[in-house]
Amino acid sequence: MDLIDFLKSYAGRFYNNDVNENAATLQKIEAAPQVQIKNLEPNVLGQYKGSTNTLNFPTNNPKPNTLAHETTHALDDQMRDFYLMYASIFPREQQTLEQKNYIDAYKKLRPEDTKLPLDKEDVYRTNASELRAFGVGNNAVPYNTGYALPHVDATMAQEFAILRALFNKTLK
Ligand SMILES: [Zn+2]
Repeated sequence: MDLIDFLKSYAGRFYNNDVNENAATLQKIEAAPQVQIKNLEPNVLGQYKGSTNTLNFPTNNPKPNTLAHETTHALDDQMRDFYLMYASIFPREQQTLEQKNYIDAYKKLRPEDTKLPLDKEDVYRTNASELRAFGVGNNAVPYNTGYALPHVDATMAQEFAILRALFNKTLK
């Protein structure tokens, strides 16, 4: 089933604005991932596969922060593609104001350009896009013990929410 249908059964147990905003935005661009329940490697609670646009969970009852984390990966992937398309296909003078605002914000906030130190020994920082996914995920569940100080999660979650809002404005 796709993410929208999956959330209909899940929403009764947990409501999270980021999960719902991620899903609604993915649906708007017709990129709602398929959700599959399947065995994953031990200790892997969820997985997003960009090549097939699939969210994999080992249970139909994933933890809320895992759901927030993986849907953030799914949307982050699509938002990067749209950023590249807007920035490369259209010359600046042909971009709408909304596209310009999104492109400019994306350049400032893109994970590849994070100024935070990346640490090969720390899963939180081995891949810059994990900063966002863990930020949104850890923010979904108060006091969840994460891999970084709480203000890092809050900052990453807020940056992603801003980008998502600016992205939505380009879709009108
Ligand atoms: Zn991740």
